[in-house]
Amino acid sequence: MKKLIQGIVDFRKNLTQERRELFGKLAMGQKPDTLFIACSDSRVVPNLFASTNPGDLFVLRNIGNLIPPFSCSCQDDSAAAVIEFSTLSLNVSDIVVCGHSECAAMLALSKGIDTLSCPHLESWLKYGKEALDKVKEGLVINPALSESNQISQVNVLQQMEHIKSYPFIKDRLEKKQLRVHGWWFDIAQADVYCYEQNINQFVLIDEKEAEQILNRLST
Ligand SMILES: [Zn+2]
Repeated sequence: MKKLIQGIVDFRKNLTQERRELFGKLAMGQKPDTLFIACSDSRVVPNLFASTNPGDLFVLRNIGNLIPPFSCSCQDDSAAAVIEFSTLSLNVSDIVVCGHSECAAMLALSKGIDTLSCPHLESWLKYGKEALDKVKEGLVINPALSESNQISQVNVLQQMEHIKSYPFIKDRLEKKQLRVHGWWFDIAQADVYCYEQNINQFVLIDEKEAEQILNRLST
């Protein structure tokens, strides 16, 4: 907490004129083009690894980067509200689901948790259960990874499916007004990977992969 308070003082002190003007402009309204869904984990910092500015990303973070499917969304309004608002009101053109390595939620899924002391956590993790089941049934994307990291990658794909279960998302996907991407952050290497459906692999976003992604965005 001490670091947090000092950080605010430093931020005020070091705010450049350019940044001040940016915030002034942003006060008039936001127009982010991407909804970024990530885990609450303190080591996952999208604005840092994607070098984004204020106003660039609309962000949803929760434990395990989970999205209740449309059929269950009435039980968990928060995530569904973010999807509705960012899509229908902000008109984002892209949604990124970003999982990460060493995710405690994925570990909890595979090893179980203390259900007596964390009943809400246990209930929330049900939205990741299909990913666990798929890995247990033998679905493998990258066999070199630990089991919980494998679950984490499959979970990204699972949550992409959950997002696509919302009727207005389906509609926008069909009209090619929206894209849904699956990313994965490797904490130890500070590397971000993008899921490539044609090879069923998460591919490191280096300059070459970035060029491919950008080419796809412009078609
Ligand atoms: Zn996590």
